[in-house]
This record gives sequence, C-alpha cells and structure tokens, in this order.
Amino acid sequence: MDIATRLRDIKSKIKKVALETGRETHDINLVAVSKTFDIPAIIPALEAGQLEFGENRVQEAVRKWSKLREDFSDVVLHLIGPLQSNKVKEAVATFDVIHTIDRPKIARAVASEMQKQSKRTKLFVQINTGEEGQKAGIYPDMAKNFIKMCRIELNLNIAGLMCIPPAQEEPAVHFAFLYKLASEMNLTGLSMGMSADFEAAISLGSTDIRVGSAIFGNRN
Ligand SMILES: *Cc1c(COP(=O)(O)O)cnc(C)c1O
Repeated sequence: MDIATRLRDIKSKIKKVALETGRETHDINLVAVSKTFDIPAIIPALEAGQLEFGENRVQEAVRKWSKLREDFSDVVLHLIGPLQSNKVKEAVATFDVIHTIDRPKIARAVASEMQKQSKRTKLFVQINTGEEGQKAGIYPDMAKNFIKMCRIELNLNIAGLMCIPPAQEEPAVHFAFLYKLASEMNLTGLSMGMSADFEAAISLGSTDIRVGSAIFGNRN
C-alpha cells in the first residue's frame, strides 16, 4: 500500500470509531509521525493533503521541515519527543504544538521563549501515567500542581494532556486515566493513541492521535 492509501485507510477507521462512539470526526486530529523518515518519504503524505506532522527531535525537524515548508507552508508541526532546555529556542521557533511539557524548568523556558518570539505555541503536558523511570512526563501525583503552576505562575494556556502508555500494559487503562485527569483540570485536549491503539484512544476521548508506522511503514 502506498502512503496515500494508508492515510485514507486510517481516516476511514477514525470516522468509523467516531461514529460508533458518538464523537465528531473533525474533533480528532491525525498527527502523522514522520520521525526517522526523510524528505522523499514525507512528500507523498503532503501531496495527499496531510498537513499535521509529528517529530521527536528538534534538530531533525529543523533540517527536514525548513526545506519542506518552502513548498508546503500550511504545515502544522508537532513536537512529540522530550524537550531539553538548550533546544527550547529552536523548538518554539519551529513547532506549532509541543506535546511534551513535563517539568517546571522546561515550562519556564518555553514561556519565556514564547514571549521573546511573540509566539503562542499550543502546549500539552506529558503525564508519565505508567510511572516509568526512564520515560519523560510528569508523574500523576505531581501533575495537578504542575498544571496549576503553568497556568497561574507562567500564564500558559495548556491545551491538554499527553501520554505514552507502557509497552507491555493495556493502553486503555492509561487512556481512561488521562481522560479523567484532564476533565478534573478542565482540559479538553488529549494527545493519545499511536498506530497500534488509536481506535481505543479515540473511543476514550483522544483529540490528537499520533500515528507513525501505520502511515510511513516500519522504522529501522
Ligand atoms: C514514534 C512515536 C509515535 C508513533 O508511533 P507509531 O507506533 O509508529 O504510530 C507516537 N508518539 C510518540 C511520542 C512517538 O515517539
């Protein structure tokens, strides 16, 4: 299957789950995760009309998308990988949406950089729902205070929450948890669901699914 066919296939699956679970298709945003794939692999997705893309490394995104955006200026770029302080300036300049705000230091740096660049980047707070030591994201028991701090102290407009469930666990449990935490904090955005589980994520309220291999094929 080529990329355009895969994209169509995923969109029809999104539509089907939305219909079955009482969601509106237009409330579900498909972020095509193009990390590790180079420009020639991305162009067919752009030509098929896909506009939202996700990358996990700032440097890689700058390299690929500074070129691609010359021809496709409507692209919306999402940072879905961990953010380091020394990359914040470039990240704010490059990305329209950052899904991985997960600690005070990064929140402060992003807030200050948005002010400097007069940019309103859309922000998600990443929650480490599985409490995995090696994974990014704030732990659930610290999440509410962190979100409050982002809102009150930094005046950040947090759009929602993001999670990556542990590989060996049932993702639905984590999606349901994220949904509950988001509603308690009056947040409407939910960045959850990948190639293997985006349908479950939609049925549990996802607004932004991040799909890579189901569109571009397996990564090496
Ligand atoms: C790689 C990645 C994805 C996409 O994963 P697939 O299984 O290829 O769909 C989604 N979210 C994050 C944070 C990723 O790093």
